[in-house]
Amino acid sequence: MKEFVLNNGIKIPAVGVGVFRVEDANIAYETVKLALSVGYRHIDTAMIYGNEEAVGKAIRDSGVPRQDIFLTTKLWNADQRSGQIQEAINASLKHLDTDYVDLYLVHWPVKETYVSVWNEMEHIYKQGKAQAIGVSNYNPHHLDDLLRHANIVPAVNQIECYPYLTQEDVVSYCKTKKIYPQAWGPLGAGKSDVLSNPVILELAKKYDKTPAQIVLRWNHERGVIVIPKSVRRERLIENLSITDFQLSAEDVSRISALNKNQRLGSDPETFD
Ligand code: NAD
Repeated sequence: MKEFVLNNGIKIPAVGVGVFRVEDANIAYETVKLALSVGYRHIDTAMIYGNEEAVGKAIRDSGVPRQDIFLTTKLWNADQRSGQIQEAINASLKHLDTDYVDLYLVHWPVKETYVSVWNEMEHIYKQGKAQAIGVSNYNPHHLDDLLRHANIVPAVNQIECYPYLTQEDVVSYCKTKKIYPQAWGPLGAGKSDVLSNPVILELAKKYDKTPAQIVLRWNHERGVIVIPKSVRRERLIENLSITDFQLSAEDVSRISALNKNQRLGSDPETFD
C-alpha cells in the first residue's frame, strides 16, 4: 500500500476506509474486519460516529498487529466547547481499546474554541496518546489563526473534497504549510451523480477502471489522502485498488474543471 509521510515523519496509507453512518455495531465490526482482511491498514472513525467500540473490537479480532494499522478518530464539538479534551481522548482510547491513535483530529472549527483547543491537542501529542494531531474542516483563515498560536503544525486537514468540490484553495494552502490534505466524501458521499458524470465515464473507459477508481485516483494524483466508505467487499477492494495506474496531467485537469463548489456536507463557515 502506498504511503504518504506526514510533517512529523509518521507514515499514513494513501487510502483508508471511513466508517461514518455505520452506526450498527455489527456492521461496523464486520466492515472493519473485512477491510483489514482485503488489505486496508488505515481506518477513519470519530467519537460522534458511535462505532469506536466496534472498530476497536474488529481491530483486536482481525489478527493484524495494532502497530500495522493507522487509526484516526476525532474530537467532537461538544467536547471542544466544554473543554473536556482529556476526557474525550481518554474515552476514545478506551472505546477503541488502544493506548494511542495514529491521528487525532479536531472535527470542526468551533468558533469560540478552534484556536485554544489546539494547545490541548499539542498536550495529547506530547503525552503520546496520538502519533499525529490535525484538524478537519478548517479553511485557510481558521488555519492562519491556529498557526499564529501553534507550537506544532497540524499534520492533516481533513476536508470534504470530490470533483464537484475541488477545494483548490484549501489544498494548495495546506501544501504550502506542510499540512496533508485528506478528502472526506471523496466519492460524493452517495449523494452526488459525480460517478455518472460523462467525463468520469469517458475516463473510466479510457483507463479501464471504474468511475470510483478514477475519482479517487484524481485526488491521489493531487497528493490528497482519501478515505472512501463502503461496507461491501467488492467496493472495498475496488476503492483500495487505485495505485496501479496513473491519470495524465491533462486528465487530472479535466476532472478538476468539473468543480462547481457543490458541498454535500456542512459548511465550516456556518456549521458549529
Ligand atoms: P464517500 O464519498 O466515501 O461515499 C460513500 C458512499 O459511496 C457509500 O455509502 C456508497 O453509497 C458509495 N460507494 C462506495 N464505494 C463505491 C464504489 N466503489 N462505487 C460506487 N459507489 C460507491 O462518503 P463519506 O462516507 O461521507 O466519506 C468517507 C469518510 O470520510 C466517512 O466514512 C468518514 O470516515 C469521513 N467523513 C469525515 C467527515 C468530517 O467532517 N471530517 C465528514 C463526513 C465523512
